[in-house]
Amino acid sequence: MTHRARTRMCAVLATAVLAVSGGYAYGAPARDAMDQDIETAVQGVDAYWNAHWSEFFTETYVAPTVLGEYDGASADVPTCDGEPLEDDNAFYCKTAEDYIAWDTDLMRSGYRNGDAFVYLVVAHEWGHAIQNRLEAELRTIDGELQADCLAGAELDGAARDGTVVFDEGDVDEVRMALVRGADTTPWTKEGDHGSAEERVDAFGLGQELGVEGCLPEEVSTEGAAAVLDR
Ligand SMILES: [Zn+2]
Repeated sequence: MTHRARTRMCAVLATAVLAVSGGYAYGAPARDAMDQDIETAVQGVDAYWNAHWSEFFTETYVAPTVLGEYDGASADVPTCDGEPLEDDNAFYCKTAEDYIAWDTDLMRSGYRNGDAFVYLVVAHEWGHAIQNRLEAELRTIDGELQADCLAGAELDGAARDGTVVFDEGDVDEVRMALVRGADTTPWTKEGDHGSAEERVDAFGLGQELGVEGCLPEEVSTEGAAAVLDR
Protein backbone atom coordinates (compact mmCIF):
# COMPACT_ATOMS: atom_id res chain seq x y z
CA MET A 1 0.00 0.00 0.00
CA THR A 2 2.63 2.46 1.03
CA HIS A 3 4.78 1.24 -1.82
CA ARG A 4 2.27 2.26 -4.40
CA ALA A 5 2.11 5.81 -3.08
CA ARG A 6 5.85 6.04 -3.11
CA THR A 7 6.14 4.90 -6.71
CA ARG A 8 3.75 7.60 -7.82
CA MET A 9 5.77 10.25 -6.05
CA CYS A 10 9.04 9.04 -7.50
CA ALA A 11 8.07 9.92 -11.03
CA VAL A 12 7.35 13.50 -10.03
CA LEU A 13 10.50 13.98 -8.00
CA ALA A 14 12.93 12.22 -10.31
CA THR A 15 13.30 15.21 -12.59
CA ALA A 16 14.51 17.48 -9.82
CA VAL A 17 17.13 15.09 -8.48
CA LEU A 18 18.35 14.12 -11.92
CA ALA A 19 19.27 17.73 -12.53
CA VAL A 20 21.42 17.71 -9.40
CA SER A 21 23.20 14.55 -10.46
CA GLY A 22 23.71 15.70 -14.02
CA GLY A 23 25.08 19.02 -12.84
CA TYR A 24 27.64 17.24 -10.80
CA ALA A 25 28.71 14.70 -13.43
CA TYR A 26 29.53 17.29 -16.04
CA GLY A 27 30.44 20.31 -13.96
CA ALA A 28 32.96 18.82 -11.53
CA PRO A 29 36.69 19.15 -11.95
CA ALA A 30 38.55 16.06 -13.14
CA ARG A 31 38.93 13.57 -10.31
CA ASP A 32 39.72 9.91 -10.25
CA ALA A 33 37.01 7.31 -10.80
CA MET A 34 36.72 6.34 -7.15
CA ASP A 35 36.29 9.93 -5.98
CA GLN A 36 33.57 10.38 -8.55
CA ASP A 37 31.80 7.23 -7.41
CA ILE A 38 31.96 8.41 -3.80
CA GLU A 39 30.57 11.80 -4.80
CA THR A 40 27.80 10.16 -6.82
CA ALA A 41 26.92 8.00 -3.81
CA VAL A 42 26.82 11.06 -1.53
CA GLN A 43 24.65 13.05 -3.94
CA GLY A 44 22.36 10.11 -4.69
CA VAL A 45 21.72 9.10 -1.08
CA ASP A 46 21.20 12.70 0.03
CA ALA A 47 18.79 13.34 -2.85
CA TYR A 48 16.94 10.14 -1.97
CA TRP A 49 16.29 11.28 1.59
CA ASN A 50 15.42 14.81 0.52
CA ALA A 51 12.79 13.41 -1.83
CA HIS A 52 11.42 10.56 0.28
CA TRP A 53 11.93 11.30 3.97
CA SER A 54 8.39 12.58 4.49
CA GLU A 55 6.94 9.34 3.14
CA PHE A 56 8.23 7.58 6.23
CA PHE A 57 8.93 10.06 8.99
CA THR A 58 7.69 13.26 10.57
CA GLU A 59 9.80 16.40 10.97
CA THR A 60 12.14 17.44 8.20
CA TYR A 61 15.15 15.68 6.81
CA VAL A 62 18.46 17.22 7.77
CA ALA A 63 21.54 15.79 6.05
CA PRO A 64 24.59 14.87 8.11
CA THR A 65 27.79 16.78 7.43
CA VAL A 66 29.96 14.95 4.92
CA LEU A 67 33.50 15.16 6.22
CA GLY A 68 34.49 12.61 3.57
CA GLU A 69 37.94 11.12 3.23
CA TYR A 70 40.56 11.06 5.94
CA ASP A 71 43.90 9.32 6.28
CA GLY A 72 43.80 7.33 9.51
CA ALA A 73 47.56 6.76 9.36
CA SER A 74 48.44 10.45 9.26
CA ALA A 75 49.19 12.68 12.20
CA ASP A 76 46.24 14.88 11.37
CA VAL A 77 43.27 12.57 11.95
CA PRO A 78 39.81 14.07 12.52
CA THR A 79 38.28 13.39 15.92
CA CYS A 80 34.83 12.37 17.08
CA ASP A 81 34.00 13.30 20.66
CA GLY A 82 37.69 14.00 21.17
CA GLU A 83 38.83 10.57 19.92
CA PRO A 84 40.82 10.27 16.65
CA LEU A 85 39.03 8.25 13.96
CA GLU A 86 40.35 4.72 13.52
CA ASP A 87 42.61 3.79 10.61
CA ASP A 88 40.96 1.77 7.79
CA ASN A 89 37.47 2.38 9.10
CA ALA A 90 34.45 4.53 8.33
CA PHE A 91 32.25 6.40 10.75
CA TYR A 92 29.16 8.26 11.54
CA CYS A 93 30.04 10.62 14.40
CA LYS A 94 26.81 10.92 16.36
CA THR A 95 27.74 13.68 18.73
CA ALA A 96 26.59 17.19 17.86
CA GLU A 97 29.29 17.01 15.18
CA ASP A 98 26.90 14.78 13.18
CA TYR A 99 29.26 13.89 10.35
CA ILE A 100 30.20 10.88 8.21
CA ALA A 101 33.77 10.08 7.19
CA TRP A 102 35.80 7.24 5.70
CA ASP A 103 39.45 6.28 5.58
CA THR A 104 40.95 6.56 2.11
CA ASP A 105 42.76 3.22 2.32
CA LEU A 106 39.55 1.41 3.32
CA MET A 107 37.86 2.80 0.22
CA ARG A 108 40.83 2.00 -2.05
CA SER A 109 41.10 -1.60 -0.88
CA GLY A 110 37.35 -2.21 -1.22
CA TYR A 111 37.19 -0.46 -4.58
CA ARG A 112 39.63 -2.98 -6.02
CA ASN A 113 36.82 -5.55 -5.78
CA GLY A 114 34.37 -3.27 -7.54
CA ASP A 115 32.87 0.19 -7.31
CA ALA A 116 29.83 -1.01 -5.35
CA PHE A 117 31.91 -1.11 -2.18
CA VAL A 118 32.24 2.65 -1.82
CA TYR A 119 28.50 3.05 -2.39
CA LEU A 120 27.89 0.60 0.43
CA VAL A 121 30.21 2.44 2.83
CA VAL A 122 28.67 5.85 2.12
CA ALA A 123 25.10 4.53 2.29
CA HIS A 124 25.78 2.49 5.44
CA GLU A 125 27.25 5.43 7.35
CA TRP A 126 24.41 7.61 6.12
CA GLY A 127 22.11 4.90 7.47
CA HIS A 128 23.61 5.41 10.93
CA ALA A 129 22.97 9.15 10.62
CA ILE A 130 19.33 8.36 9.79
CA GLN A 131 19.06 5.97 12.77
CA ASN A 132 20.31 8.73 15.01
CA ARG A 133 17.44 10.92 13.84
CA LEU A 134 14.83 8.32 14.74
CA GLU A 135 13.12 7.56 18.01
CA ALA A 136 14.51 4.53 19.83
CA GLU A 137 11.49 2.34 18.98
CA LEU A 138 12.33 2.65 15.28
CA ARG A 139 15.82 1.30 15.69
CA THR A 140 16.38 -2.43 15.51
CA ILE A 141 18.45 -4.28 18.08
CA ASP A 142 21.31 -4.81 15.66
CA GLY A 143 22.13 -1.29 14.56
CA GLU A 144 24.80 -2.43 12.13
CA LEU A 145 22.49 -4.67 10.15
CA GLN A 146 19.83 -1.96 10.16
CA ALA A 147 22.41 0.40 8.67
CA ASP A 148 23.14 -2.18 5.94
CA CYS A 149 19.40 -2.55 5.31
CA LEU A 150 18.97 1.23 5.06
CA ALA A 151 21.95 1.27 2.67
CA GLY A 152 20.11 -1.17 0.41
CA ALA A 153 16.93 0.92 0.60
CA GLU A 154 18.77 4.18 -0.08
CA LEU A 155 20.72 2.87 -3.05
CA ASP A 156 17.79 1.05 -4.59
CA GLY A 157 15.68 4.17 -4.14
CA ALA A 158 18.39 6.36 -5.65
CA ALA A 159 18.65 3.94 -8.58
CA ARG A 160 14.89 4.19 -9.16
CA ASP A 161 15.17 7.98 -8.98
CA GLY A 162 17.94 7.84 -11.58
CA THR A 163 20.68 9.44 -9.47
CA VAL A 164 22.70 6.25 -9.03
CA VAL A 165 23.18 3.40 -11.46
CA PHE A 166 23.07 0.12 -9.66
CA ASP A 167 23.96 -2.87 -11.83
CA GLU A 168 22.83 -6.42 -11.23
CA GLY A 169 26.37 -7.56 -10.44
CA ASP A 170 26.81 -4.91 -7.77
CA VAL A 171 25.29 -7.00 -5.00
CA ASP A 172 27.83 -9.72 -5.80
CA GLU A 173 30.55 -7.07 -5.66
CA VAL A 174 29.33 -6.00 -2.24
CA ARG A 175 29.33 -9.62 -1.09
CA MET A 176 32.82 -10.21 -2.46
CA ALA A 177 34.19 -7.04 -0.89
CA LEU A 178 32.75 -8.01 2.49
CA VAL A 179 34.00 -11.60 2.31
CA ARG A 180 37.48 -10.74 1.04
CA GLY A 181 37.91 -7.86 3.43
CA ALA A 182 36.50 -9.84 6.36
CA ASP A 183 39.64 -9.78 8.49
CA THR A 184 41.66 -7.03 6.89
CA THR A 185 39.87 -3.85 7.99
CA PRO A 186 37.83 -2.92 11.08
CA TRP A 187 34.94 -1.90 8.83
CA THR A 188 34.61 -5.34 7.29
CA LYS A 189 35.58 -7.37 10.35
CA GLU A 190 32.93 -9.88 11.31
CA GLY A 191 32.66 -9.03 15.00
CA ASP A 192 31.77 -5.38 14.54
CA HIS A 193 29.31 -5.48 11.71
CA GLY A 194 27.95 -9.05 11.49
CA SER A 195 29.08 -11.76 9.07
CA ALA A 196 29.36 -11.02 5.38
CA GLU A 197 26.29 -13.16 4.67
CA GLU A 198 24.19 -11.44 7.33
CA ARG A 199 25.22 -8.08 5.95
CA VAL A 200 24.43 -8.99 2.36
CA ASP A 201 21.04 -10.36 3.49
CA ALA A 202 20.28 -7.12 5.35
CA PHE A 203 21.31 -5.06 2.32
CA GLY A 204 19.09 -7.22 0.09
CA LEU A 205 16.14 -6.78 2.45
CA GLY A 206 16.45 -3.02 2.14
CA GLN A 207 16.67 -3.26 -1.62
CA GLU A 208 13.60 -5.43 -1.79
CA LEU A 209 11.32 -3.83 0.80
CA GLY A 210 12.65 -0.31 1.09
CA VAL A 211 12.92 1.75 4.28
CA GLU A 212 9.86 0.13 5.90
CA GLY A 213 11.53 -3.25 5.61
CA CYS A 214 14.36 -1.92 7.78
CA LEU A 215 12.16 -0.79 10.66
CA PRO A 216 11.25 -3.12 13.56
CA GLU A 217 8.31 -5.33 12.59
CA GLU A 218 6.15 -4.27 15.53
CA VAL A 219 6.30 -0.62 14.50
CA SER A 220 3.41 0.53 12.38
CA THR A 221 4.44 3.01 9.75
CA GLU A 222 0.83 4.20 9.46
CA GLY A 223 1.21 6.93 12.04
CA ALA A 224 4.33 8.45 10.52
CA ALA A 225 7.07 7.88 13.03
CA ALA A 226 8.42 10.79 14.99
CA VAL A 227 12.05 11.73 14.91
CA LEU A 228 14.28 13.43 17.41
CA ASP A 229 14.46 17.21 17.46
CA ARG A 230 17.68 18.46 16.09
ZN1 LIG B 1 28.18 0.69 11.00
